[in-house]
Order: sequence, then structure tokens, then C-alpha cells
Amino acid sequence: MADKLGTYRSKRDARRTPEPVPDKGPLPEGRDDTFVIQEHHARRLHWDFRLERDGVLVSWALPRGVPDDPKVNHLAVHTEDHPLEYASFAGEIPQGEYGGGQVKIWDRGTYETEKWTDREVKIVLHGTRVSGRYVLFPTNGKNWMIHRMDPPVSPDADPMPEDVRPVEPEPRKRLPQRRDEYGYEFAWGGRRLIMYAERGPARAVAADGRPAKAPRGLGEALGSSRAVLDGELTATDGETYMIFDLLYLEGRSLLDEPYERRRQLLGTLGLSGPHWQTAPSFDDGEAVREAAREQGLPGIVAKRLDGPYRQDKADWRLIPS
Ligand code: MN
Repeated sequence: MADKLGTYRSKRDARRTPEPVPDKGPLPEGRDDTFVIQEHHARRLHWDFRLERDGVLVSWALPRGVPDDPKVNHLAVHTEDHPLEYASFAGEIPQGEYGGGQVKIWDRGTYETEKWTDREVKIVLHGTRVSGRYVLFPTNGKNWMIHRMDPPVSPDADPMPEDVRPVEPEPRKRLPQRRDEYGYEFAWGGRRLIMYAERGPARAVAADGRPAKAPRGLGEALGSSRAVLDGELTATDGETYMIFDLLYLEGRSLLDEPYERRRQLLGTLGLSGPHWQTAPSFDDGEAVREAAREQGLPGIVAKRLDGPYRQDKADWRLIPS
């Protein structure tokens, strides 16, 4: 019988990669019911979709992950069979090696096969993050599509907003009188950018509506989370994107959520990278103003804690330092 893992082995050097590279020999016998989806931060972010079948993991690479809506099919590039041991692999493949980058297990579980031919693979997934009926079918050589056969995962999901107008603060001379009803942030004095991230490189739009350059790697850092962010490049280096608001997350528009709640959700994303940071928010306006003065920043922005992300109701105030 042909060596099913021949291609897999030929692409890897067992001394250089932490991935399992089993010796040649008889394949293990499984129950053909395990699936794994690995989030792979390779040169291009993708999700590896693997189904245990006849002693190997039959594999596809999904640049946009598993679709959660039957109206949207996703590309699934057929890749080489992987050893069964790979189902539990997570780790860092060294740069320069095949598939260099971080591998995380995104979901794992069991599946049932409804049909399996060269033209059609129909399955039912039972995972933690993804469940339901799916079909994979080839369209052109190695290129397959994956289609969800069940109803949408979230039928009432909000569409991702496409053209958010950034809320602009109004210039004021003094701190608000009811100081404890506001959160306080530094004004960074740089370029305002709204960032749209949808499983891949982020799309940046400037305040005037023109497309801009997004920090490299930011969209990928969000993994499978779909999000819209508001922030500003710092004036000092013009390089670091300070993120201070979250306007959409995982099928939910947050535009009508209070500032306090949006900040809290933003914090859970833990966004911190080589060219972006989560901007801090404070409750002591006077101290922030003092710190802004010391750091040579133009001012601070007071934001009403219960304010939605709406220009007429947000109540943002720009106060010089
Ligand atoms: Mn991969």
C-alpha cells in the first residue's frame, strides 16, 4: 500500500520541527471519528481542518476558518495527510521550517461520516466551538469548498458595520464637573484609524473615510474573532496604534453599549503587540492630565461611562493638558 504519510514526512525534518514525525510502518487504527481544527499562524493565517480517516488525518487548510453561515462557503485547500498524533499537536514550528509559526488547537471533538467519496465529504461535527453538518467538495484541483448545511450558528447576528464614523471629542477647557461619571484617556495626537478585522489582515480606514495602512499582524492577532476597533497612531513615532474602543465583536454590534462595557470587552481581547497596544483608561482625570503634561501629550479625553458610541450621545471631551 502507498505510504500515506510520505508527503508529510518529505516536507519535514524531524530534528528541526516539534511536530510528530512517526516512523514508517503500519498506520494506527482509530475509529474514524476524531476531528481537530488548528489555528496556524504561518506566513498566512489559516485554520487546518483535519478528519481522522483510515489511520491518518485527512486535511484541508481554511484561510477563513469554518463558515458559520450556510450562505457563505469558505475555501478549503486540500493538503497532505497528517499522522493521527497531530490531532493533539500545538506549539511553535521554527521560522524557516515548513509551516513556520504558532499552532494552537482551535477546536477538537468527534464527528460522524454521512458520505465520503472523492467528490463529496459529508460530516456532522460535535465540537466545543463548532458543531453541525458540513460538506466539503472539490471545485478545482486541490481547491475545495466547505459549506455549512445546518442553519446559521447565530441567526440574529448583527452584520459587521462597514463604515463607522469615528466619534469626535468636543474641545473643552476644564474637566467635567461630575468627574466620576467619566473615564479618562490620553489624547495621542496622532492619526485616528478605524480597524476592521475579519480573520486575516486588518483593514484600516482614516477619519476622512480613506483607506489607510493597518499595523502588520494586528488582524492576525485577533485570530478567528471578527472585530471593529477604534484607535489612534501615536504622534511620537506614528507607528504604534493605541486601541481605545471596540465597536463590534463576534456578530454583535457594540455601538449602543455604554463606553464602560465596551472598554471591559476590549480588555478581554488582551491586544498588545509590536505595533499596537490597548490604550489605558483611568478614573482620575486630574492625574491623567498631569501625566499627559509630563509626557508632552496634547491632552486627555474624558468619555462618559454610560455613553454609547454615537456622536450625539457619546459625550467625549478633549481637554488640553
Ligand atoms: Mn497549516
